[in-house]
Parts: sequence; structure tokens; C-alpha cells
Amino acid sequence: MVADIHFNHRHAIEAIRAGADAIRINPGNLGDKAKVREIVHAAKGVGIPIRVGVNSGSIPKDILEKYTRPTAQALFQSAKRSVNSIEDMGFTDIKVSLKASDVLTTIEAYRLMSDAFDYPLHIGITEAGTAFTGTIKSSVGIGALLAMGIGDTIRVSLTSRPEDEVKVGFEILKALDIREHGIDLISCPTCGRCEIDIIKLAKRAEKELSNIKEPMKVAIMGCVVNGPGEAKEADIGIAGGRGNGLLFKKGKVVRKVKEDAIIDALISEISGMIKR
Ligand code: SF4
Repeated sequence: MVADIHFNHRHAIEAIRAGADAIRINPGNLGDKAKVREIVHAAKGVGIPIRVGVNSGSIPKDILEKYTRPTAQALFQSAKRSVNSIEDMGFTDIKVSLKASDVLTTIEAYRLMSDAFDYPLHIGITEAGTAFTGTIKSSVGIGALLAMGIGDTIRVSLTSRPEDEVKVGFEILKALDIREHGIDLISCPTCGRCEIDIIKLAKRAEKELSNIKEPMKVAIMGCVVNGPGEAKEADIGIAGGRGNGLLFKKGKVVRKVKEDAIIDALISEISGMIKR
């Protein structure tokens, strides 16, 4: 459990005493250095890390005046000051998060932080938006950082159900080959060659296979011209024909399946593969 403390240092102390595995504080919000010292002392006593969380709304006044607005430098300088202050208290079991809702600012702030310190970074785009726009912003921001080798843990923040945040997080990690989890669905964009309803099939496959946790590549392709290549490369795949699909498993054709039976055939084959 990471206790997320925004305002009151007493809550932080209580959470530490209650057995939190880590504590997240924003020194900019706690204000008084003595309060931060008390938290640091308590965390040190039980040997748990502190995540220093800085966001664009809590940049100290003098830094904000210098940079005129919450720029990447302002965020970084704010985090640097907080980290240095905690280091001066003899505490280095630190993680850092720098949150802005703007993708480019966030990327640049983390880049500055990663150049200056070796502490683990918890990355994410804060208040990213709804499931659709927030997923795009989070994927671009978190994805760009991870691709640069920056970031140790991630948080996807969406105006949506927590399960959606977790799903998006897994997809980002899967896209970058950092984690293997569940179905990796490859589906074609359709074109004039397509003779089956590939959009409907891909949507159904995504939904019906969403509870599978075993890593598996599934290809749903629209035609027999370009489809078999991808379908053969996947663990299991379909290359559509006229009202039917060729089912491939581990690079080999298994059988021809009628369009309305394609998803059931995939589910049944995948279940068999998982059991084996
Ligand atoms: S796989 Fe076939 S149907 Fe799908 S986009 Fe490529 S050529 Fe078109």
C-alpha cells in the first residue's frame, strides 16, 4: 500500500505507523520543513521509501515567478529542491513523480530529472482526460518516456473506471515489449480487398478475449492476400475470405471457418492452447 498524502503531515505519520509500504508526499503542499522532517524521520524508522510528488499546482512561489508559469524547468527545480531538502535530512530512499497535464511539459520535466538524479521515477500524465483522449495522452507521454528508458513505475490517470486505467497501463507496457499480459491483438485496417466484417470481428475478439491473462498474439486479418503473413506470425490468426476465414495456428492452416463462427473457433482454440 502506498499512502498518498496531499495535505496533512499527521495523516502521513499515521499511515506510516499503520504499516504503509511507502508514502507519497508533496513537500510543496506540506509547507513547513519541520513537518517534512517529521515524516522523513518516521519513514526512516520503519524503513519505507518516500515518493516525492511534485505537480504544476504546487510549485514554490519564487520558482514560479522565475519561470513565470509551470514549465518543465519550474517543475524540475521544484522537485530538485524537495529532493535536496530530504537528502539533507539524511534520507535517500526516494522516488519522484513530476506531474503536469501537458504531455510535452511532463516529458521534458522527467528528462531533466532523469539527467540530474538516479532516483526511481514514477511517471504519468496527470488529469489526462476521458478514456479516449486520456488514453492517447497517457500513451504518448508515458510511451515516449519509457522508450527513452525513463520511468520505473507508471500511473495512467483517466476520468474513467480504475480498471480502465490498469488496462491502458498494461497496453502501454505491452506495446513497448516491457510486459507480456493477455492478448496482443493484431488487426488490419480493412480495405477494398476485405470480404468479411473485420471491424465487428476485431471488436468482438477484443471483448471476448479480454479476460485471458496468458500472453498470446492473435491476428484478425481481412483477406487472403496480406492476411496469411500476419496470421502465420501470430500464435493464432484468421485471414478472411468471402464470408469465411482461414484459421491459422502456430503458422499452419488449421481449417476454414464460416464468418459467423470465427470468434467461437478462436475462443475454443485459444482455450485448448492455454490448457495445454
Ligand atoms: S489484410 Fe487484406 S483486407 Fe486487411 S488491409 Fe491488408 S490487404 Fe486490406
